[in-house]
Amino acid sequence: MIKEFGIKVVYQGRLKRGEDILQGMTEVMKARGLTGGIISGIGAVSQAHIGYYNAAARVYEEKMLRENLEIVSLKGNISLKDGQPFPHLHIVLSGADYSTVGGHLFGDTLVFAFEYEIIVFEGDPFVRTFDEDTGLFLWSI
Ligand code: ZN
Repeated sequence: MIKEFGIKVVYQGRLKRGEDILQGMTEVMKARGLTGGIISGIGAVSQAHIGYYNAAARVYEEKMLRENLEIVSLKGNISLKDGQPFPHLHIVLSGADYSTVGGHLFGDTLVFAFEYEIIVFEGDPFVRTFDEDTGLFLWSI
């Protein structure tokens, strides 16, 4: 499936130290009624809560990293789930030894510094519905 969108607007912003990235980005989206687009960002966190989807067991395995880490890359998208703007974010982090770790981003990932861009699409956004084949909420075809 593929859908063509025009670009409506681009936002650039920053979350404050101590903010929860997932919650903060959700608030930005809801305050502006953003329902479709792309999110990207860089910066650093004081702790990170990431996940790996165990496809066989159909559950997210979760990991809490309680340390200061660089955000090498944060990338995600915005669509609708249950009628609400929903951010799906992934993150790659690095530590003092420069090795990287990453995964699906959960709440309780706290900002040390975070700079982001949001590219907002025109038109009707994708809508997430439960997909029996994967056990995930995916864009409906
Ligand atoms: Zn994910």
